[in-house]
Amino acid sequence: MSNFPSTARVVIIGGGVVGVSSLYHLAKAGWTDCVLLEKNELTAGSTWHAAGNCPNFSTSWAIMNMQRYSLDLYAGLEKEVDYPMNYHVTGSIRLAHSKERMQEFERARSMGNYQGLDLEMMAVSDMKDRYPFMETHDLEGGLWDPADGDIDPAQLTQALAKGAREMGARIERFCPATGVTRDGAEWIVHTDKGDIRCEYVVNAAGYYAQRVAEWFKPYGGRTLPMTVMSHQYFLTEEIPELAAWTKENGRKVPLLRDVDTSYYLRQDKNGLNLGPYERNCKAHWVTPQDPMPEDFSFQLYPDDLERLEWYIEDAMARVPMLGTSGVGRVINGPIPYAPDGLPLIGPMPGVPNAFEACVFTFGITQGGGAGKVLAEWITEGQTEWDMWAVDPRRYTDYTDQDFCDQKAMETYGHEYAMHFPHHVWPAGRDRKLSPVHDKILAAGGQMGTFNGWERANWFAKPDDDTSEESTQTWDRNGPWAVRVKEEVEAVRDGVGVLDLPGFSRFNLSGEGAAEWLRGRITGGLPKVGRMNLAYFGDDRGRILTEMSILRHGEDHFTLITAATAQWHDFDVLRPARDAGLTLTDHTTEYSTLIVTGPQSRALFEALETKADLSLGWLTHQAAEVAGKPCALARVSFAGELGWEIHAANADIPALYDAVIGAGAKPFGMFALNSMRIEKGYRAWKGDLSTDYTLLEGGLDRFVKLDKPQDFPGKASMQLEKQAGSKKRFVIMTVDAGDQDAPYMSTVWHDGAVVGETTSGDWGYRVNSSVALGMLRADLAVPGTEVEIDIFGKMCKATVQPDQPLWDPQNERIRA
Ligand SMILES: Cc1cc2nc3c(=O)[nH]c(=O)nc-3n(C[C@H](O)[C@H](O)[C@H](O)COP(=O)(O)OP(=O)(O)OC[C@H]3O[C@@H](n4cnc5c(N)ncnc54)[C@H](O)[C@@H]3O)c2cc1C
Repeated sequence: MSNFPSTARVVIIGGGVVGVSSLYHLAKAGWTDCVLLEKNELTAGSTWHAAGNCPNFSTSWAIMNMQRYSLDLYAGLEKEVDYPMNYHVTGSIRLAHSKERMQEFERARSMGNYQGLDLEMMAVSDMKDRYPFMETHDLEGGLWDPADGDIDPAQLTQALAKGAREMGARIERFCPATGVTRDGAEWIVHTDKGDIRCEYVVNAAGYYAQRVAEWFKPYGGRTLPMTVMSHQYFLTEEIPELAAWTKENGRKVPLLRDVDTSYYLRQDKNGLNLGPYERNCKAHWVTPQDPMPEDFSFQLYPDDLERLEWYIEDAMARVPMLGTSGVGRVINGPIPYAPDGLPLIGPMPGVPNAFEACVFTFGITQGGGAGKVLAEWITEGQTEWDMWAVDPRRYTDYTDQDFCDQKAMETYGHEYAMHFPHHVWPAGRDRKLSPVHDKILAAGGQMGTFNGWERANWFAKPDDDTSEESTQTWDRNGPWAVRVKEEVEAVRDGVGVLDLPGFSRFNLSGEGAAEWLRGRITGGLPKVGRMNLAYFGDDRGRILTEMSILRHGEDHFTLITAATAQWHDFDVLRPARDAGLTLTDHTTEYSTLIVTGPQSRALFEALETKADLSLGWLTHQAAEVAGKPCALARVSFAGELGWEIHAANADIPALYDAVIGAGAKPFGMFALNSMRIEKGYRAWKGDLSTDYTLLEGGLDRFVKLDKPQDFPGKASMQLEKQAGSKKRFVIMTVDAGDQDAPYMSTVWHDGAVVGETTSGDWGYRVNSSVALGMLRADLAVPGTEVEIDIFGKMCKATVQPDQPLWDPQNERIRA
């Protein structure tokens, strides 16, 4: 007992693969004074019974990075820590049943190749060479990943634990954390064996993570968004045919994933392991009648193979030998799901010095990378790769349990589904509604969600096809296209209105607020009555975020930012409170109408607006429109003459009616995206991310290296300025086919990859497909011809001058 640690720099709660990998990576970073607490034996949660499959595949750049890193780590771990490990690199074939699926594979192949992975498209005729036991009916083709395989999850965890211990980190088994207390700047983690005082705490409690998160509520925490699902696989008894083949060939057959049917099938010893993600799935521990047990260590749910029948039959038709042997063992275990199925890795929202690394649905293949990311967050305050995809702050206050359960069921049942650009998932909707939500629906609004807020993507006419099926395509055109074009044309030629609830909106005031901001942003502040875009960098000069700053007085500001950025950006500003300033969040009290188009001034005049409509671009003023008080901000993300109306929720319906009555045509987010791309305006966490520095991102004019204040990233930017940036932001017109370039399409020149796209869309005003992206600096010259790999099709593209494609001199905005 006396040997029990009473202090540590970091305490990790949870000894599954993720917690242990976090400990290993902290120790590797030199933080050896760290302790991991495990309530039972290591791996007692989800880890011990995982199938152990380790794919690289993902259509998310960040997740692919994380998985790729894991697999590299695992390949060398046995030797590195001298611990025996069953890691079989068998390769895998992903099966495609449709043209769309092949396009998805092409995209992943291209991304994977860019990350150095040898992903290859496969013809149906080649499949039997790699997998002699499969039937190839109904298939379009496949994707081959030679590095896929399976690992023993318990051995992996023990190997990481050995590595961590040998570097000096400690693991306390059979030692549940029972609570936390904050004492000054320190955490005290309580256990029955004693308290541990530490600087940082990590919640790596797997499917118990929501319970552990409760302890942090007195210190600013929230209910952690997750649901526990049941996931099953079964192992067959030995299949003599497979045993003979394996003996003869000296290897296992590759892992098969039939993603359209929705299962994985892999060799386990001389039998097979079949694991479906079934539509008729089951959540556990979600009702008061079925509470989560205090301890479920090393336990399983009762077998429920009936649920999988349809999938088993399908798999038996694909690999008939599956039906030749009996079921040996069924594993039905708890698997935690966040609403989008991705884990939570990063700062615990609202709580100082607390982090999360939990809710993993693919924790075995992601564990290695997750440990790296978590350790970077703690030791450096930033991560090598942009990890917004898994940042816990991507969820805010709308994720009640009902929402989490609905989304988990939907996500699990569509685990392998394609995520098409014009499709909106139906579960868990209507969490946050605009004051004019009913009016938007009545006008034909086809809604999408943005940080839980419902906004129209486009407006349908009565006979338009608004079915979910119509959106199952990567193509630009669908029933929405003609309407989006009409909406853009209305904004271009007349005036449009976009109802935009949920803009994140913060007020910052107090003596010294201006000086505080100057020490944070990379550029200058607007004068009183004016507004401008401001950028916040990280220590490496990378793009942390962008906010619009409206200045009301010397030390009084409103900061407006993307809906999804609400909790992230509040964290960026939070230190203002420590500096004695007043920082408040007004996101839910006000809403915004974007009124834009060449006729917008005439529209406001017709409404007898009490405001000076001659004030120029980037001004804001208190005003009255249609008898309602509001603020008018003279900006337009669409790139036309226009004003944003900011008003209290209660006044929005009257303002909306007035604007519509004066002739504005409603437009949606699809039209806005098309127009902002033509202007070269960057969107957050696509074009603007910590994968790029501000200077690479072409934001030089927002960086004042000569201002007296220091600000995060200044020193790095000074160095980068001297050395020259390796990449540069470019706008490209694309000779695209039916699809515009999605995020992270590779850009080619002279047979080599020279960059990537960060967003793409059709520009209706310039009548061209447009891509924004990053290019090797020497090629970022107007007129350079490149090719973009769009779903496997090489499309010619041309680098454009560094100015908007539409209205390059901004004359329309300034009119
Ligand atoms: C049937 C099945 C098959 C799967 N197959 C795969 C696969 O093939 N590939 C893949 O990548 N993933 C797979 N998974 C998912 C994988 O198992 C999980 O994502 C992974 O194990 C999560 O690891 P973890 O460390 O986050 O959580 P866990 O392994 O659940 O670890 C959390 C730990 O925290 C401990 N703990 C909780 N509360 C406390 C406390 N208060 N104090 C101290 N300790 C505490 C628990 O005892 C537990 O050991 C599968 C899951 C299931 C159910």
